[in-house]
This record gives sequence, structure tokens and C-alpha cells, in this order.
Amino acid sequence: MKTTPVEELFNVLNESADLLQQELDCTYLEALAKTGENIFQQSILQKIESEWTGKRLKKIYEGLNLDHFSKEEIRKSFQLAILKGMKESVQPNHQMTPDSIGMLFGYLLNKFMKQNSYRILDPVVGTGNLLTAVMNQELNKQIEGIGVDIDDLLIKLAYINANLQEHPIELFNQDSLEHLFIEKVDAVIGDLPVGYYPNDIRAADYELKADNGHSYAHHLFIEQSIRHVRPGGYLFFLIPNGLFESEQAKKLHEYMMKNVYIQAILQLPESLFKNKQNAKSILIMQKQGEQVKQPKEILLVNMPSLTNGSELEKILIKMDRWINENKSC
Ligand code: SAM
Repeated sequence: MKTTPVEELFNVLNESADLLQQELDCTYLEALAKTGENIFQQSILQKIESEWTGKRLKKIYEGLNLDHFSKEEIRKSFQLAILKGMKESVQPNHQMTPDSIGMLFGYLLNKFMKQNSYRILDPVVGTGNLLTAVMNQELNKQIEGIGVDIDDLLIKLAYINANLQEHPIELFNQDSLEHLFIEKVDAVIGDLPVGYYPNDIRAADYELKADNGHSYAHHLFIEQSIRHVRPGGYLFFLIPNGLFESEQAKKLHEYMMKNVYIQAILQLPESLFKNKQNAKSILIMQKQGEQVKQPKEILLVNMPSLTNGSELEKILIKMDRWINENKSC
């Protein structure tokens, strides 16, 4: 049977990562980052003791021409390999954002961001899958990406992802809740990790710090993102459904009322998540500013299953109509 381009490239990544994992005695994800770098640099950058492995790797790389693959094919094959690696071990909060959600983010960015070139920040960029999925749906525009992540292996994967797909993305390996040395951006996206932020001293710099005990990291990420987007810029976050129901939600709500206009909340179908408690929504906000008007109403949508074509179409028409009637700039 004929393999698809995604399978073909996945096989190259997978076989070379398996070989490097055995040779270098590292995890699959570390080996994947190394093989990605080898492919990008067109050379084997590690010291390979086994002659057979060296020859095999050389043969695999020589048989590959990345120019034959689209950016989406590269992203998808890399994503498959990362998924395989993440099965070995990864914390739930560090999971890669799945394709279905990336597609929806891409669709929304396309609808809300009308300018031909813009700068976008993902403060929890992880493997870069969400950011590059969005960028791949906006190939007719010039987008400059900025990604930040605290996890050095994930950001290495993001770096390989960006290089192989030839996307201009600047990456920072740091805690995003520390100072960010970046210019203001036009849009922020993020699949927010949910939980407590352990650094109370740093949290004290945020209006959304908890009055007692640890603060919610996802609240602080929202505040940090609002600080770093220009007035009129948009923010798109994957959030837990209970965001506005926790004991710290009142403060969050007041903060949002002062700084942004909530545009839309799209509740995603539960079938996308392992269980009901983990179900999420996409929250879209616009930072307040001179030319910026509050929408007449907030768009509230219960997304149908993404495989239900006719229902999905109805919702997309509803969203289009809302955007035409309410989007201020
Ligand atoms: N969208 C990403 C992707 O497609 O791979 C996945 C994001 S994952 C749900 C959340 C990410 O937040 C993880 O990569 C984790 O390392 C990162 N993270 C958690 N706390 C952080 C912090 N304080 N600063 C920066 N990144 C952080």
C-alpha cells in the first residue's frame, strides 16, 4: 500500500529517533529533538559508536528531501512522533495541544486578525504544535511568532518544529511569569496549564495573586498576556470550563472587566477530552484601547462534535455573522 507523505516523514523521524535513542541511551523525545536537528543541519551531530547505526542513519537522512513536504505535512508527522514519545512519560499539564483544537484556533485567528502581517505570542508554547498549526493556516499572511516555555525539552522540540517548517519564531526558555523581554504583540494564544503557581514572591507582582496561599498559574498567565498585547489586540486561550467558578474567579472577572472586552466563549465538545472534568473552552478577548468598542453581546457557543459537519457549519455561520456585527477593529 502506498504511504502518505505524513507517514513517510513520520517513518524517517521514528526510525532515526529509535536508532539515536538506543545509541545514546536517552528518551525517545530527546532522540527526536536530536534527529530533527540532524535533519535541519543536514549532518549527524552526535558521536555514533556503532558503525552499523552510523551507516543506517546516513542512509535514512540521504533519502529525505524536506522540500517535497508541505509545512502541514512536516507539522503532522512531527506531531505523530511527539505523541509516541509523550506516551513514555509526560505530565498532563505538558501535553501537546491536539490537532482539532489547533485547527479551531487557526480558524478563529483567521477570522479575527484581519491585518496582513502581525506578531503573535504563545507564552506556553510547549512543542510549538499549536503555534505552528495556527501559522500554517495563515500562510498568506506574514506572521512573526514568539514562544516561551519553562520546559527545556519541549522548547527544543518547538525550535526543531519551527526550523523544519521554516517559520520565523523567536523562542525563550524561561518561566513566562517572570519578566518577558519582548515588544508588545498583536495577538496571544495559549493552551493554559491549569494549577497553582509555586512562586509566591513572583506572584506578588500580579493583581491576580491569591489573597492567601498560592495563586492560580492560569490566572497569572492571563494577566501577563494582557500586559504584553497591544491595545486592540486579541487573546485566544484554551481554558478549563470552570474558570469563572473557582473561589478566585471574582478577582479574575473584575480584572477582565477593567482591561479587556470578552468577545466569545466557545465550549468544546466533551468528546474531545478524556473526561467531563477536563473539558475546556476557548476564551477570546480583546484588550481595551481608544478605538476599541465593547461587542453588543458576547458570542456564546456550544461547539458540536467536530465530525458533525452540518451542525458545525451552522455554528460557523453563526460565528461569521457575529464577527460581522460585533468586531470593532
Ligand atoms: N500548546 C502547547 C503545544 O502545542 O505543545 C502545549 C501547551 S501545554 C498544555 C502547557 C505548557 O505550559 C507546557 O509546555 C509547560 O511546560 C508550560 N508551562 C507551565 N508552566 C510554565 C511557566 N511558568 N512558564 C512557561 N511555561 C510554562
